[in-house]
Amino acid sequence: MSELTVHAPMDGWLRRLDETPDEAFAGGMVGEGVALDPTDTVVRAPFDGVVAGLARTLHAVTIRSPEGVEVMIHLGLETVALNGQGFTAHVAQGAHVRTGDPLLTLDLDLIATMATSLISPMVVVAGGADIRPLSPGRSVRAGDPVMTVAVQKAAGLQTTRPVSGPATGPTTNLARTLRAALPHGLHARPAARILACVRAFDARVTLGREDRQADASSLIAMMGLGVQDGEELHLTASGPQAAEALDAVCALIAAGLEETAAPAPIAVATPSRSAPAEVAEAGELILTGVTAAPGLVIGRAIRLRQIEITVPADGLSATEESAALGHALNAVRGRVEKAAATGGAHRKAILAAHLAFLDDPGLIDEAERAIGEGRSAGFAWRQATRAGADLFRALGDPRMAERADDLLDLERQVLSALTGEAPPVTALGAGSVVIADDLLPSQLMALDAVKVAGLCTSRGGPTSHVAILAAAMGVPALVAVGQGLDAVEDGALVVLDADARRLIASPSATRQAAAQSAFAARQRRRADALAQAQDPCHTADGVRIEVFANLGDVAEAGPAVAGGAEGCGLLRTEFLFLDRESAPDEDEQLAQYQAIADTLDGRPLIIRTLDAGGDKPLPYLVTPPEENPALGLRGVRSGLHRPDLLLTQLRAICRVRSKGPVAILLPMIASVAEVRQVRALLEMATAATAEKTPLVGIMIETPAAAVTTDLLAPAIDFISIGTNDLTQYTLAMDRQNPALAADLDSLHPAVLRLIAQSVAGAVSDAPLKWIGVCGGLASDPAAAPILIGLGVRELSTTPSMTAEIKSVVRSHTLADCQALAAEALTLDSAEAVRALVAEHRPAPVLRSANGAVA
Ligand code: PEP
Ligand code: MG
Repeated sequence: MSELTVHAPMDGWLRRLDETPDEAFAGGMVGEGVALDPTDTVVRAPFDGVVAGLARTLHAVTIRSPEGVEVMIHLGLETVALNGQGFTAHVAQGAHVRTGDPLLTLDLDLIATMATSLISPMVVVAGGADIRPLSPGRSVRAGDPVMTVAVQKAAGLQTTRPVSGPATGPTTNLARTLRAALPHGLHARPAARILACVRAFDARVTLGREDRQADASSLIAMMGLGVQDGEELHLTASGPQAAEALDAVCALIAAGLEETAAPAPIAVATPSRSAPAEVAEAGELILTGVTAAPGLVIGRAIRLRQIEITVPADGLSATEESAALGHALNAVRGRVEKAAATGGAHRKAILAAHLAFLDDPGLIDEAERAIGEGRSAGFAWRQATRAGADLFRALGDPRMAERADDLLDLERQVLSALTGEAPPVTALGAGSVVIADDLLPSQLMALDAVKVAGLCTSRGGPTSHVAILAAAMGVPALVAVGQGLDAVEDGALVVLDADARRLIASPSATRQAAAQSAFAARQRRRADALAQAQDPCHTADGVRIEVFANLGDVAEAGPAVAGGAEGCGLLRTEFLFLDRESAPDEDEQLAQYQAIADTLDGRPLIIRTLDAGGDKPLPYLVTPPEENPALGLRGVRSGLHRPDLLLTQLRAICRVRSKGPVAILLPMIASVAEVRQVRALLEMATAATAEKTPLVGIMIETPAAAVTTDLLAPAIDFISIGTNDLTQYTLAMDRQNPALAADLDSLHPAVLRLIAQSVAGAVSDAPLKWIGVCGGLASDPAAAPILIGLGVRELSTTPSMTAEIKSVVRSHTLADCQALAAEALTLDSAEAVRALVAEHRPAPVLRSANGAVA
């Protein structure tokens, strides 16, 4: 593969593209590249080539190299609106130019006054790969090299798969043609919106442009159509919900697929909120990151390296390569299915997503297309997965970007199956702190869990699958530490303090001693906590506090009980509903709930009704497209939207037999009317099953429910405060946005005041059966005394924290807790609340490193 060097078209300041104050450019949606803040008025050709595009308004010019790489120079932002004012062209479309030839002259003063910004993105829009900006963040002169691009044969990501019938049921074939307003073409974001819309229906939808068709279930195939603004799109739909699907997609397209691009904030490095700069002692390296799973550990850094698996570019015959790919995909599918048979709900959900990727028609078609062009199976698969990963990253949604890692994980697994090259086995000693640029879920699952004491990665986010797995393993994890992590040597002693969001490599003797004594104290505390885990929990002055565990499925129930859980305060039933084509029927649900009730052996079981919608879409739960899914048809609203699903679930819950209480918990309640509607369904469920009405409680997750708990109380038996959602809705901060992770602290006094108000409402009439917390705050040792002081009497923790929280509760009197809570309510920040708690309980929260302190 040859390389093209792109030169600066003007003097100016070279910037990273992601610093561009425009969402589409910054997110790489238009293409990868760099940006230039010009100080010069003449725009020159960045390399030899042809003027492949010159906007009518002259604000953008595209040059194509002889090898087919196309680079667009977009002069200023939102300059299309100037309608040519301030631009003078020296070339016409189709002209041959040499590096440095003048293309346009700019009236910088005029453009600067009239446009949003002079920053000019230079992006590769076709024919290039492996785009490498050359040291952005410096001043450049016209003609200086600013990026290199590997020349790639233009890859059309179209699907060649014949459009088959629907997944289920009788087929209806419908077709419609319409024009789409797509100022940037059918790029990743609008394609993702079509895909999300189509997924809601039992129908197969295709998009066609000219003679090419793409299955709308594949983002990759749709983008490969290359649909441009105003072009005609031919839609077809088949399957039982063909008409509904076609209506919904046409309505979506007609309503405009493009969001107005709001200027993106310029990316600046923000110091982590609760990691105040700490002075490093001689020889120490202190790095900060984002907490993905809490805890503190001392151990030896073990670096996990990714070995690039080499595959030949050219293959044997297409038949042989295609068969090899099929075998490799089957082998990986078999392994993933086997791995999914064990472990908790989180692990199963992640592996189910991997299985879905292994069957993605767009990926497979793209690989087959490359094989058809003479590529080897490995080369073709790598090309397809990387293109898919790039698309996910380009969506500008951090959650989607993290899904790119899942694709790269599958890339490695399939290549390893194809080449027989096993991934390197990393020998871990006890107490290893695994450090890596990034970790793939399969790499983490392959590690000896007993020996992993902590995780720390340069990249990644707190909602990545690895973060979820780490939290489920109870292993402290710090992510997004940055490239500074490269400086940590393999085998170095490290203190990983995920609670304080920092990693200290080569700690000084004093710091080591302090950390080790804290660690030893913590081990003793933990051993004590575990020894008393099975005892009922009371404060030091005898107030009963029930400590339950949150569960996702039956596999988690046994270990939770062994860890001291006195019941299940939140069964997240959505794991049973995700990643399948249709909802589980009543008997299947009953079997699951009954198995959990049996394992709990008479301990209370609080079953939350399906909390779907939002970021947990279900293919069989048809919802209209939503601008803000987190504020949309989610939680109880989705259940009331599909009362048939909710009624089935209520019937299943009513039929569970247990020696102890079985209760129903309703998610995302915002008003009394919703409770009444569910109660009406519950009456139908009890009538149908001839069972008694179970206890009914609500999650306090909306500020509305928190401030009106007194009005809701007469209609319910208990409350459980979901601090994760309550915090995101109170602070208006997306709980899954890694950029906000550092500030999203449920100990924010605004959240605490809402909890106080909710508890006051819950006891305003007759006290409810449980006043509980099942959000993340219940698992935070710093928060437990405050919650008790505010009147909470049941804490439902992640299973790995149950024993510890019980022991924290035992070490406080109710009077201590009340004093702490009263003072916390007067403070003005979460940091101040944490500092207050630390004053009263100075020892840090630590976790056992499985006995190994180096
Ligand atoms: C919460 O929001 O605090 C909660 C427990 O629900 P989930 O985390 O499942 O949304
Ligand atoms: Mg919630």
